[in-house]
Amino acid sequence: MALPEEFLEELRANNDITSVISSYVNLKKRGRNYVGKCPFHNDSTPSFTVYPDTESFYCFGCAAGGDVITFIMRSEQLVYIDAVKYLAQRAGMQMPENNYDDSFSKLRMRILEANREAAKFYHSQFFSEAGFQGLSYLRTRRLSDQTINKFGLGFAPDSWTALTDHLLNKRFTRYELLQANLSVESKKGTLIDRFRNRVMFPIIDLKGNVVAFGGRIMTDEKPKYLNTSDTPVFKKGEGLFAFNIAKNSKSDKFILCEGYMDVIALHQAGFDFAVAALGTALTSNQARMLKKYKETVVLCYDSDNAGQLATQRAINILRKENVNVKVLQIPEGKDPDEYIKRNGADGALKFKLLLDSIESDIDYKLEQLETQYDITDTDGKVRFLTQAARMLSEIKNDIERNVYASKLCEKYKVSLNDFELQLAKFVRSNNYRSSQDEFKRVKKQLTEKPHVSADDKGVKKATRAIRAEEALISYLMSNPDMVHSVYEKVPPEKISSEFNRRVYTALTQRLLSGRSAGFIDFSGEFTEEENAYIAAVFAKFNNELNVPQACSEYISVILEENEKQTAAQLAEKSPEEIQKYFDDMMKAKKK
Ligand SMILES: [Zn+2]
Repeated sequence: MALPEEFLEELRANNDITSVISSYVNLKKRGRNYVGKCPFHNDSTPSFTVYPDTESFYCFGCAAGGDVITFIMRSEQLVYIDAVKYLAQRAGMQMPENNYDDSFSKLRMRILEANREAAKFYHSQFFSEAGFQGLSYLRTRRLSDQTINKFGLGFAPDSWTALTDHLLNKRFTRYELLQANLSVESKKGTLIDRFRNRVMFPIIDLKGNVVAFGGRIMTDEKPKYLNTSDTPVFKKGEGLFAFNIAKNSKSDKFILCEGYMDVIALHQAGFDFAVAALGTALTSNQARMLKKYKETVVLCYDSDNAGQLATQRAINILRKENVNVKVLQIPEGKDPDEYIKRNGADGALKFKLLLDSIESDIDYKLEQLETQYDITDTDGKVRFLTQAARMLSEIKNDIERNVYASKLCEKYKVSLNDFELQLAKFVRSNNYRSSQDEFKRVKKQLTEKPHVSADDKGVKKATRAIRAEEALISYLMSNPDMVHSVYEKVPPEKISSEFNRRVYTALTQRLLSGRSAGFIDFSGEFTEEENAYIAAVFAKFNNELNVPQACSEYISVILEENEKQTAAQLAEKSPEEIQKYFDDMMKAKKK
């Protein structure tokens, strides 16, 4: 039975792979991933890794791998559908009916199409008489045209039916427009536009879908912001504005702001890791989304009372999810947008200095540590200082470490010399440990057999093309919003390995139709062995550069190898066939 997508999506949301596996394996955090001893073979070193990014696991010892369903299949000795039932039960979910109807999935797709069309319409208004004031407004707020285009901003004209008429003309139905919350019913029962005379901010999810809109009025009228209500593709408290851009930022943190304009101003000033919650206070859901990509969140709310209250709430929610929280107070009660503008050409630099100056959480952690010891007692004090030295030894930067050491010694009136000796001991043993780990890793890589695709078994070579294909598949898993541009350049027929082609097709087809494509969504189309292979690919490319440049590199290797292959095949063909090939190619180019 094919399971409905909404069901699988909920199943995945309720059975986070790390927490499911933690009830079977003692997991330790290592970087962005978790490691532990493999439950499927007699494992003396921790060779088993869980990758939250790709929602997969892989064992380097016995090559077991897959998604959360595969894990349960193996651990509980169940077949696919029973493993699904098991997880549904764990999450208190009902199994879907046997003859479930897919009209809801279809409606979701139609809503996403309508939203995309609406975003195009709003943007196009900037270049009409009705919408020019919207563009002027953004320009007076000092947004560059480049920024306006990057965020796909637009304008909802001051008209009752401009968008509704446009979408009805595009053959969207009355029902679809109401469900998308792009139109609402007037008292007379006719359809009218939900957003009027507002600057429009499209909310884009990680798959590149426009899932909702925020609209800002340009005068003092209320409400200042109007957002899309809950629809089949969007729920309040889920999703973050500009998250699709910020998650790919090189920065190791997020800045969380209150408003869309703050986020946009920060991005324009070069802080491409700013995000905002959408029209609500921060939720645990959003905190988990942030935590999945980066360890640290800098709160940058307004300095007014409401902003401070929101800051307190957000700190509690983020701490609960083990996020490293820092708070940035902007001087003179400004919001980030105002602050950057007020400082003119120095705005970005000054904001960067503010960002660098915020207190690190080491002070906070030391305070917490102290509460665990009775430091009025000599023995307690010594034990506390030993633990403190161990904690400080984890700081990578020498200068930073020494600053904390001298602060600590001054506070507790102990000899800096003695403390530094102890600290140096811990630092040396940390370094030794990590160099041992690194050595083991390199040795393992060297002795590992080259990877071969499931359908190329027996062929003892991992070709350049296959490696690039695997890397591209992994890249798409973490950057689903790139699917349109990738697919345009690499249609499935250019993928050389039959197995990779199947995975690539399953993944891109889902993404292109705006559906979700977590591992769990398509793992049902593959056998257990194949899923282990896919997990191995994710594991292999986990540390690979996840940047657009790397992606173009993969693409060019695939296309280059594909051409070589075609040329080799061509050489064996008759002159007529060769002529036909070139004719077809010319035709394709003219298109
Ligand atoms: Zn294993």
